Amino acid sequence: MKKILEFIDLESGRLRKTHDNYPDEEKRALARMVKLSEEVGELADEVLSFNSMQRDEKQANHNSDSLSEEVADVLIVTLLLAKTLGVDVEKALEKKIEKINKRYEK
Ligand SMILES: [Mg+2]
Repeated sequence: MKKILEFIDLESGRLRKTHDNYPDEEKRALARMVKLSEEVGELADEVLSFNSMQRDEKQANHNSDSLSEEVADVLIVTLLLAKTLGVDVEKALEKKIEKINKRYEK
């Protein structure tokens, strides 16, 4: 997780340099939320292909790497969005996992 979050810090800095048209955090968060929606759509496309539910032309573009690549895109953009919103992802995950686990203790 540490290595992934280091990459997110690095990538966030690189994106700030290449996409400096979002000077404030509010616009940056909204832009990343829109980007996340785009990536979720791409993942949905891959899931349909994985289940052979696409028309032939779309099905042809699918390969074993493209599904895992889209899963990674969704995770990376989610982490970039969390960084923009100041969410401590490690703490958030620990707290949520604990909450989920408690559901099964009853
Ligand atoms: Mg993608």
